[in-house]
Amino acid sequence: MNEQTCACPDCNCKVGNTPVVRDGKAYCCEACATHHAGGKPCVHAGCGCTKAAQQH
Ligand SMILES: [Zn+2]
Ligand SMILES: [Zn+2]
Repeated sequence: MNEQTCACPDCNCKVGNTPVVRDGKAYCCEACATHHAGGKPCVHAGCGCTKAAQQH
């Protein structure tokens, strides 16, 4: 089982075969790895983490 999910708190995306690793955590995309700096959206359309990040 290497179906790991993104370490972004509100993201349920699978990181897949090419995770973006930052600080020892695997993220599904660069946007999540940078905690959505500048409002950058998750690459996965409709992912709840983008909206959640913008509310902070
Ligand atoms: Zn996501
Ligand atoms: Zn995210």
